[in-house]
Order: sequence, then structure tokens, then C-alpha cells
Amino acid sequence: MLSCQSASRLVSQSLDRPLHWQEKLALRFHLAICRHCRRFVKQLNQLQSAVKTMMQRTEADASIMLKPEAKARIMHIIQQHH
Ligand SMILES: [Zn+2]
Repeated sequence: MLSCQSASRLVSQSLDRPLHWQEKLALRFHLAICRHCRRFVKQLNQLQSAVKTMMQRTEADASIMLKPEAKARIMHIIQQHH
């Protein structure tokens, strides 16, 4: 059986690389019996989705910043075609 330390290490590694099926299985068994690690996984998932949302928002901001330039380019292309 995995220790909580190994389980949490596997959980953080799963963010960086796909886990081996044996690791997944061991982790699943551990999470089934360990409430503390389940909470850790939940927190990590929340953190990950928060980071994802933040990055998506940054991309959206970047596209807003690019907008005038992109618009000018589109207008230029349209004018060339007419
Ligand atoms: Zn645990």
C-alpha cells in the first residue's frame, strides 16, 4: 500500500506526466481509503483549474491587445481585394 507521501507525490507527478497504470491503480486504491489524500487531490484540481482559467483570461487579454492591429490587417486585406 502507498504511503500518503508517495500518493501525494504521484498526484503532483500526474500533472506533469501520464501515470503508469500500476501507479494509477495504486493511487486509486490509496484514495479509496485515504480521506486526506482525496482532499489533497481535490485542492490540487481546484488549483489547476484556477491556473487554467487565469491562463485563458491572459490569452483573452492578449487577443484584445492584438485586436486593433489584427483589425487593421484585415481592413488592409479587404481593401486590396476591392
Ligand atoms: Zn493518504
